[in-house]
Amino acid sequence: MTGRGVHLKKMLHGLLAFLALGMAVGGQAQEQTQKPGIAAKAPARPKEPKENEARPQGAAANSTGALPATHGMIANAWWDREQQKMVTCTADPKAKNAGYAGASVKGGDSAWRMEVPAFAEELKFQTGGATRVVTFSLKARAAITMAGHKADAVTWLDGGTGTWTTSSVYGTLPFVDDYAKAHPVKADYGKTWTLSLPESAYLYDEKAAGAVPPEGWDLTFPHPLRGKAAGSDPDGAFYEEWATSPFADAYLTRLAETAVDSLGLGKGGGTDFLGVSYSTLDYVGHAYGPRSREIQDTLVRLDKDLGELFAHLDKRVGRGNYVVALSADHGVAPIPEDMQKTGADAGVLSLVELRERMEKALEPFNYGKPAIARISGSDVYFSPGVYDRLKSDAAAMKAVVGAAMSQPGVAELYRAEDLVDRPATQSPLRRAIAASYFPGRSGDLFIVPKAYWLMDSTPLGKPRDYGTGHGTPWNYDQHVPLLLMGYGIQPGQYHGNVTPADIAPTLASLCGVTLAPRDGRVLAEALAKTTRSGAPKKFPLPAEVDAAKP
Ligand SMILES: [Zn+2]
Repeated sequence: MTGRGVHLKKMLHGLLAFLALGMAVGGQAQEQTQKPGIAAKAPARPKEPKENEARPQGAAANSTGALPATHGMIANAWWDREQQKMVTCTADPKAKNAGYAGASVKGGDSAWRMEVPAFAEELKFQTGGATRVVTFSLKARAAITMAGHKADAVTWLDGGTGTWTTSSVYGTLPFVDDYAKAHPVKADYGKTWTLSLPESAYLYDEKAAGAVPPEGWDLTFPHPLRGKAAGSDPDGAFYEEWATSPFADAYLTRLAETAVDSLGLGKGGGTDFLGVSYSTLDYVGHAYGPRSREIQDTLVRLDKDLGELFAHLDKRVGRGNYVVALSADHGVAPIPEDMQKTGADAGVLSLVELRERMEKALEPFNYGKPAIARISGSDVYFSPGVYDRLKSDAAAMKAVVGAAMSQPGVAELYRAEDLVDRPATQSPLRRAIAASYFPGRSGDLFIVPKAYWLMDSTPLGKPRDYGTGHGTPWNYDQHVPLLLMGYGIQPGQYHGNVTPADIAPTLASLCGVTLAPRDGRVLAEALAKTTRSGAPKKFPLPAEVDAAKP
């Protein structure tokens, strides 16, 4: 047996229901129980729904084996009480971002707010550094949380400019620069996204009800990648279209294959880690929703991309010499206007109205204005000192909680004290939300929307600039695929509850690596008792491979 292999940690950002349809690999598809969350405005293009973007907690759970109450990455962004402003989960004042191919980019990002090491970091540390850790995504927070605090190459897209980007805390590898120069994103300018299957192969209506396409596109195929102006040069809208198209997934796949070839991943002295986060599914889901032809075609094409990637790994690394884990950081809600057509209770929970109601309720109690500093997704942050006063002011607390509960679409409201230290509780809702509560970062109050109600912070009177979102404890958000394939995996389907936090402990077990804090468990039922050659199930470390040599 050739024991060396590449560990592929793949994550899908976005919707999930069709993923099982898209996946042509052996493995397990399981239900997860971890709560995806809510959060805040993403910093860069392509556009994200305001205040309603999912937490990277799913992504970090996939990579660390811990839940947000442990790893601390509770949201894409949260209200920093000290600075009294929103901060993104990866913004690092000490880091400086750098663009590949000579381009300059702004900001600085790292995993400094992630409270635990990623599995990839532990792998590198515990195997003596021979491991190479390489990750790619369209989103900084995805590439960064997969890799951890240090890595050989962590690459994401500066969405507004189409620049492949890294940060001063990570290494740079020449092949990324070479690839970025040889294959600029703008080379896809003028291409057109058409359906890859006959029309009859797609479910549901041709036009997704309630969808809000990126600028320059409408509700029917084909979708030309010509930006807003459709001029001779790419504009910002082009890069948004690109990220919302299968061209981005195809690009990431080729980049991953190039990494395998250039670095000889899987053939070095250690177990290498390659992480690819396909962000397009998320962008398409936000714009067109889970019942659109766009999301279906994205999955059909992603399935092909994954097939190509696995074929490439078979050729370069060898089948059986690598293990793949595939999951998602969240699902998505149906577009509320689409769901309403069924007669179900569905709608939009206006966070702007909610805030006005709560402020008004506190007026008679002389808390000053604004009493609320920010509502970011589910998290309500009061102005400094207000919540401490409220805790001993029963009448005012009752008034403000009552006002929040009266807002259409609010199902439940928790106070920070209900969530701290992950209380033992019979309520699955409260348990799920407590798993995401991190003191200091989370809000003072926590709003849970009713199922099929979309939390939205669009200013009153303005149209929503996205179709739908995610970040609730309801099943359409929680239920994500979890597939394992390759070395040490026992093919089969398992129907028990699992969470993406189980991935890292499972991979760690295969590699003989120990994770310090761990909320997930080893998916022992999915691990082969012995390999075909009769060797122990543990993924061999280099020393063992050498020792086993004749
Ligand atoms: Zn999203």
